[in-house]
Amino acid sequence: MKKKTSLRLQLIGILLGFVVLLMGTVYFVQTTFLDDFYRINKIKSIESVGKSVAEQIGDSDFEDIVERAGMTNEVCIRVVSNNSAYSYTGACTLRGLDNSIINLIAQETMESADGEKLFDDFRYQRRPDENPEKVFIYSKFITYNNEPVMVLVSTAITPLSATISTLKSQYFLISIALIVMTVVLALIISRIILRPVKQISEESRNLSRGEYDGTRVRTDSREMSDLNETLIRANEDIQKADKAKKELLGNVSHDLRTPLTMIVGYGEMIRDLPEENTEENLNVIIEEAKRLSTLVDDLIDISKIDTAGVELNKEDIRLNALLEDVYHQYQKYCESQNIDFSLKLSEDDPLVNIDIKRIKQILYNFINNSLNYNSKKKQKIILGTEKMDDVYRVYVYDNGEGIEAKDIQNIWDRYYKVDKEHRRHHIGSGIGLSLSRDLLNAHGLNYGVESEPKKYSRFYFDIPEKQ
Ligand code: ADP
Repeated sequence: MKKKTSLRLQLIGILLGFVVLLMGTVYFVQTTFLDDFYRINKIKSIESVGKSVAEQIGDSDFEDIVERAGMTNEVCIRVVSNNSAYSYTGACTLRGLDNSIINLIAQETMESADGEKLFDDFRYQRRPDENPEKVFIYSKFITYNNEPVMVLVSTAITPLSATISTLKSQYFLISIALIVMTVVLALIISRIILRPVKQISEESRNLSRGEYDGTRVRTDSREMSDLNETLIRANEDIQKADKAKKELLGNVSHDLRTPLTMIVGYGEMIRDLPEENTEENLNVIIEEAKRLSTLVDDLIDISKIDTAGVELNKEDIRLNALLEDVYHQYQKYCESQNIDFSLKLSEDDPLVNIDIKRIKQILYNFINNSLNYNSKKKQKIILGTEKMDDVYRVYVYDNGEGIEAKDIQNIWDRYYKVDKEHRRHHIGSGIGLSLSRDLLNAHGLNYGVESEPKKYSRFYFDIPEKQ
């Protein structure tokens, strides 16, 4: 497996890389193109000063204008004309230029197409014993009052090698300072991010060892606190599932033990006392065995759904025929128990496409619950259908204990039992509704329950007519 790098090192690496790239680019651009930038800037500057001065020839404060333009732009300006009123030179290079050179410049400028010219390799020697100085000269010719006037602007060119070497040593120092700051910054950021990450990963380890106590990690970051919440919720779910499994195991063991005791007891009694071999006693054994078989069937179903999902075997059937079938299963029993059980079918008898066995299983579960959770003297149960907008609602109504609002959301959860005290006549294991929910979801049907505590419950699901 590839070796993993710590987040802190990654962060330092990324930030350092960024700084090196940034400094490198600036360094490269500055040292390589500094000369060109400098030239372009100087040329632009003398051209714009020259043009602006040429435009203002004839202004009353022309001399001041020239003086100011020269000072602010650090250039040298000379205006040459036959009329001495426009002849001005600042204290600079251009002052010492020979008339012969001025004439030469004037000649070339006049010959140029638009009356302006740039001399970008002009060497000027102030004194015979000095090295010639490199200057840029911009010249522009205009006509003022029918007189030719020439504006000259020049600037000296300083060699940049000294500047570049200063820049280099500056870059070196700035780079070192930036690298140190980057490492410190990376350490601070990684501390801010890593502290909660480390704590959460420690808590996750505790969770896997079953030692997590739901502690909240202190963090200002939303992502970290989301992560923490996920961990807390996972812990709650694990604990809930754990508790429910323990409860189920307890309930199932209890439910298995009671019918088994009855079967063994009645069996021994019939063996030892032949006169007890009556139909009534044999029926007790058969009934208890049936209870066991229902319980085991439920458990097998739920474990099948958990491992392989629900597999449906859909068929077409008339909805009323299906409900009549279910009704007849319970009719006799309810009569014998004096329970008012009725069937209310909608007038149209739609054709539906469902897994008949599974839908019956759901209805049996609803009806069993209606029988189980009802301690009223006059028990009433209705199995019925009613036409809704574009579906048929199948429901099981009972006038039993009803369900508290706080439990309504949970009763479809696996192993959830409202009545924590396990009562014998409640043969349920707490998985009937969860099994029904899985089967209804597999069919893609809408389902639900309406109830008022101590008054009634009405469990339902909606089936569309087959198109
Ligand atoms: P059980 O095997 O415990 O009946 P179910 O999943 O079928 O499990 O039902 C879950 C819980 O929902 C029951 O324990 C019961 O508290 C409640 N419940 C289900 N049906 C009804 C009903 N018709 N009236 C009142 N409570 C009901």
